[in-house]
Amino acid sequence: MEKKEFDRMLSQMDKELKEKGLSRRDALKLAGISGAAFLLNPSESKAVTTAEASDAKGKIVIVGAGAAGITVAAQLTNKLTNPDITIIAPNDIHLYQPGQTMIGAGVWEADDIKENTKDYIPSGTKWIKAKVSEYNPDTNEVVTDSGEKVKYDYLVVATGLEYNYEAIEGLTTDMIGSNGIASIYLNDLNKGTVSGAKKTWGLLQEFAEKAKKEKVVGLFSHPNTPIKCGGAPKKIMYLTEHYLRKQGGDARSNADLTFLPNGGKMFGVPEYHEAIVKQFEARSMKWKYKHNLVKVDGAKQEATFANSYKTKGEWDADLEEYTEVTKTDYITMPYDFLHVTPPMKAPDSIGNSPVGSKKGWVPVAKETLQHVKFSNIFALGDVAAVPMGKTGGSVRKQAPVVTQNIIDAMEGKELSAKYGGYTVCPLITGYGTVMLAEFDWSKQPTPSFPLDPTVERWIWWVLKAYMLKPMYFYGMLRGRG
Ligand SMILES: Cc1cc2nc3c(=O)[nH]c(=O)nc-3n(C[C@H](O)[C@H](O)[C@H](O)COP(=O)(O)OP(=O)(O)OC[C@H]3O[C@@H](n4cnc5c(N)ncnc54)[C@H](O)[C@@H]3O)c2cc1C
Repeated sequence: MEKKEFDRMLSQMDKELKEKGLSRRDALKLAGISGAAFLLNPSESKAVTTAEASDAKGKIVIVGAGAAGITVAAQLTNKLTNPDITIIAPNDIHLYQPGQTMIGAGVWEADDIKENTKDYIPSGTKWIKAKVSEYNPDTNEVVTDSGEKVKYDYLVVATGLEYNYEAIEGLTTDMIGSNGIASIYLNDLNKGTVSGAKKTWGLLQEFAEKAKKEKVVGLFSHPNTPIKCGGAPKKIMYLTEHYLRKQGGDARSNADLTFLPNGGKMFGVPEYHEAIVKQFEARSMKWKYKHNLVKVDGAKQEATFANSYKTKGEWDADLEEYTEVTKTDYITMPYDFLHVTPPMKAPDSIGNSPVGSKKGWVPVAKETLQHVKFSNIFALGDVAAVPMGKTGGSVRKQAPVVTQNIIDAMEGKELSAKYGGYTVCPLITGYGTVMLAEFDWSKQPTPSFPLDPTVERWIWWVLKAYMLKPMYFYGMLRGRG
């Protein structure tokens, strides 16, 4: 992120804050992030240096140069006097993926979320531009797709996850952008390209144009696998709804909008679930639980959902009660606009290796983030089998844990750092409003600031639209917390 773009973003934010009678300092305080000093004085910002730098030694290999890989590399570099770190990752471009929702809604351009990876590889860190295709934890070695063998003392797995659009019958990624099929998720992390979000914005505008003249149907899916940013399928629906309303005339009343999640609620935390249900009702947005998108017919513009439910089976004479059976109905719906959130999985190179679990994800102790079988391997971010949201917000809290625990292990100490399960979902509920859903293992709201966290607020939109990206590039990826 170039300084001039950073300054442009800050001055845009200042302008918007001024209209509401707030200074940047007050806004940061209000947002509970007054520690983000670099947003107040970017030119004076320095890398954090620790008074207690460790001179522990060991060769650390990090697989992946996304949010998690770069952040851990930066924090280790800041904390070790003699860091020996190698990053293995193929991507020349680093994507700020939370911005894909903003691109899908026409707020940002694709270039707004792209940075050169080389500018974020910490000085002194070796970068092998390749993919890891093999993990050999018994010999402490990984092998790249070009056949290079790389030895390590400590390994950090941070490859993120992969999309599986093809698991939906009839759907291929080249169909996104035509026949009303949209998806803000579609990107190629290894090549640094974002193709789905911009196409979503094009289709959303076409949808709104059609809605001005006739009745239209918009469907929004949420699959039966873990996904990154669980809020994004709803965010794009809220933005679609608001965009239609902003068009005036009959555009909104002509549009029938339905959210179809595989699950049975809007959010795992009851307080946020209830808030979202009320927001949906207030906007006349519909939902149907337990609907998993299984098939798309692009030419006919029809989507088929599997609706599974439990029902009464046969009479069990021994137990003297009816058995319970699961039934699945397949329901086909026509659509004008279909937003697909694809099924997601861990990369096969991990799932098929001793480092991955049967389901593919890297099994780690949820608090120390240490591999359950191999004590010199740690994993964080989207690829880690941690029962908490796969978000950049989770990475921000997991990275210091992995950093500290690797240093503890190198120093021969007990692992001291624990991940408390914190994650955050800035749930965009319209152009200009966000509900900041923060929570942890307790599955209760854990707001950073004493404001009702279930309320949609303009200040969180300012946070989302202007502050989080600079905080990510200038703070988190530089190891500044
Ligand atoms: C549409 C969308 C909206 C989102 N919204 C939000 C939000 O509002 N807030 C939020 O906090 N988070 C959000 N996220 C989620 C957030 O971007 C991810 O959770 C975060 O980037 C995860 O970091 P990671 O390092 O685990 O994976 P990534 O950042 O995805 O990085 C993975 C890295 O691993 C590399 N890699 C992959 N395979 C290999 C291999 N075999 N060998 C070597 N390297 C490999 C990739 O090239 C990449 O460099 C959103 C994501 C999307 C897609």
